[in-house]
Amino acid sequence: MRVVADLGLCQGHQMCTGEAPEVFGFDDDADLVTVLQEHPDESLRSDVTSAVKYCPAMALSIEED
Ligand code: SF4
Repeated sequence: MRVVADLGLCQGHQMCTGEAPEVFGFDDDADLVTVLQEHPDESLRSDVTSAVKYCPAMALSIEED
């Protein structure tokens, strides 16, 4: 899987960093999400799926390789 963050949509809620801290970080200066792992291990799929689901801005998505 590939994790995609649309920085044009991100509103800095940081729900994603709580759901999947291994995959999502946060740039405080830019007030935007950062993707720490663009191709996370399958073991992180449920965490990433939760982050995608709970992002209030719908800025996150998973693409299949
Ligand atoms: S939860 Fe969504 S809006 Fe909030 S920081 Fe993460 S990507 Fe951005």
